[in-house]
Amino acid sequence: MQTKFIFVTGGVMSGLGKGVTTSSIAKLLQLANQKVSCIKIDPYLNYDAGTMNPVAHGEVFVTEDGGECDMDIGNYERFLNQNIPKNHNITTAQVYSSVIEAERKGEYLGACVQIIPHITDEITNRVRKIASDEELDFLIVECGGTVGDIESLPFLEALRQMRVVEGPKNVMFVHVTLAPSLDVVGEQKTKPTQHSVQELRRIGIQPDFLAVRCTVPLEEKTKKKIALFTNVTAEDVLSCHDAKSIFEVPQILYDQGILDSIFTKFGKVGMVNASANWDEWNKIVESMSNHKDQKVKIAMVGKYVTLADSYVSVNHALKHAGAKLKKSVEIDWIDSESIKDYSMLDRYDGILVPGGFGTRGSEGIIKTANYAREKNIPYLGICFGFQLAVIAFGRNVLNLEDVNSTEIKQDAKNPVVDLLPEQKEISDMGGSLRLGGHNIKIKPETMAQKIYGSDSVSKRHRHRYEINKNYIPDFEKNGMIFSAESDGGKRMEILEIPSHKFYLGVQFHPEFNSRPGFAEEVFVSFVEAAAK
Ligand code: GLN
Repeated sequence: MQTKFIFVTGGVMSGLGKGVTTSSIAKLLQLANQKVSCIKIDPYLNYDAGTMNPVAHGEVFVTEDGGECDMDIGNYERFLNQNIPKNHNITTAQVYSSVIEAERKGEYLGACVQIIPHITDEITNRVRKIASDEELDFLIVECGGTVGDIESLPFLEALRQMRVVEGPKNVMFVHVTLAPSLDVVGEQKTKPTQHSVQELRRIGIQPDFLAVRCTVPLEEKTKKKIALFTNVTAEDVLSCHDAKSIFEVPQILYDQGILDSIFTKFGKVGMVNASANWDEWNKIVESMSNHKDQKVKIAMVGKYVTLADSYVSVNHALKHAGAKLKKSVEIDWIDSESIKDYSMLDRYDGILVPGGFGTRGSEGIIKTANYAREKNIPYLGICFGFQLAVIAFGRNVLNLEDVNSTEIKQDAKNPVVDLLPEQKEISDMGGSLRLGGHNIKIKPETMAQKIYGSDSVSKRHRHRYEINKNYIPDFEKNGMIFSAESDGGKRMEILEIPSHKFYLGVQFHPEFNSRPGFAEEVFVSFVEAAAK
């Protein structure tokens, strides 16, 4: 079986939405009943995204199989409503590590090990292996960075070689560029696209499609001009103008004939009738548009609040829940370090504390968790937000002295949150947290059981610390219940306060399982409580 490959490259500048273009093309092919998946290539030297700062690089997306991945993997999962394994996020570090390891083992004995062919072969082998292991009709590969970057050269060279080896009927390139307008009524400028395509052709890649970002639809004359300079036919110069929601981009591309053009170029006969798929997808996209009259205001309190992308999956999950409940969820990000007067939180229908690490900003979050409890404001704490809610309760309800997590204060007298025992031997920081999907057992007759309608679920994790079990009897006697656990009762997974309007903490990350049309249950219950 021959997989068809579509390689997506980027030009002009970063942040043009290559991930959305990649996901949208994949979605269109999926809607046409093709078996598809996506790969993200990240040309940086981190082995994975786990060691990067979310404020600089965006969220670390955790896969079911425990990968700490680039946030584009989250986009693929949300668009395709399918799990993407961690080997679909390929980095420079992974490629070089494998090659160097093989060299040390003597696998290239006698040879001079070089970028071409050894690094490029390692890249193409990885891409081909995913295509054949998963028996894919189409594999869409997004190459991170911008053409012209030194870092991405070996990857682009590998992809170029794949077109030579697999043939033009099996490989095509989509290049994402920008047509800026200098003022509202101004002309759409084509020069950045021209230059970017020249740069791509200089390294031997002729794009088949151009996906051109612009604010308003690309004019026909602009398409023709771009076509003339880039050797891409005008029909395959696609306008990627601003949309109300990213989930409208598949339709925008479809309306310009991309699917027909892909099938024609790849020599596939006709498209299958997929109207049922389209109806279902359109219903989901429709549900995601705002219900402006019914607002729910959520305060998201944390320390990585300067970049919206730091918690992109949480934002999406709240919107999915809003769509299901026909509410428009508005999110304000509040820096936990800057709150002076906690009564400012009264303005909100609900308070959400997402994941986080380290000391900075944690006192503000602990106070926030306590304020939400005292004022009966719906509260959802995720991972760090779960752990800090326990600290707040220990301090203010149990009135214990010096309550903390050992992550924040190593010698706390009452370490209600402590390092996972298996973490005590670990010194490497990369990929060493408790990661990925773990089964969770939910206690009967609890709010958690009502939320999930089940006594067991599997959820994704990313943490090093956990609730210290020694304190649980005391907490439960005073009204904070631990309603779910994992690893045979060793780990606490969910807390709730039955006397509160809605007070829930989860050790896992429910946001990674939420998808358009399939909102994660915890978010639905939280938004529902906030809307009341
Ligand atoms: N810092 C906490 C831990 O390591 C919480 C992690 C998180 O919120 N993802 O356990």
